[in-house]
Amino acid sequence: MRLKSMRLVGFKSFVEPTLIHFPTNMTAIVGPNGCGKSNVIDAVRWVMGESSARFLRGESMTDVIFNGSESRPPAALAGIELHFDNQEGRLGGAYAAYAEISVKRQVTREGQSQYFLNGTRCRRRDITDLFLGTGLGPRSYAIIEQGMIARLIEARPEELRVYIEEAAGVSRYKERRKETATR
Ligand code: ATP
Ligand code: MG
Repeated sequence: MRLKSMRLVGFKSFVEPTLIHFPTNMTAIVGPNGCGKSNVIDAVRWVMGESSARFLRGESMTDVIFNGSESRPPAALAGIELHFDNQEGRLGGAYAAYAEISVKRQVTREGQSQYFLNGTRCRRRDITDLFLGTGLGPRSYAIIEQGMIARLIEARPEELRVYIEEAAGVSRYKERRKETATR
């Protein structure tokens, strides 16, 4: 499974539709302070279902929409689409047979969020389910930010266990069991 490309529109500083290709297994994003490097990471977290504005360095969920500049009016909506190579079928469930999977989210100024899987409208839940146990996801260890290594080193055993269970693919089943128990 590999992130092949990403389309951003109206998201934070990416007001113009922007297509970013990730042609190899390693990509570095470089640029001066404030040019939007971290916004790219925020976009990845957001489309995978991040629902905390604070984690996206904002105050409200609509803060991710381009809020205008001297020369441009604010955007009406923000949208991100990720394209994953899924030839190995690691993104599973009903979608395992698809060689490519696209995940899309958009939000309007009214705060209405919509999610799409391969172009079909779906729930946030379907997106978080898709990534559960794959090591990817809005809060996953696949995204290592400043301070995370220190947090891992200082983590209590039960906190560390959460990371290990995700890496082992166990968290998907634990989540299912929890749901069955509460039904
Ligand atoms: P650094 O090297 O300092 O970490 P960076 O490249 O990671 O910088 P970002 O934090 O990604 O920079 O981008 C910050 C820029 O994004 C700021 O110029 C900020 O004004 C802009 N920005 C954030 N949210 C919005 C928004 N909703 N509308 C327009 N611009 C925004
Ligand atoms: Mg940054």
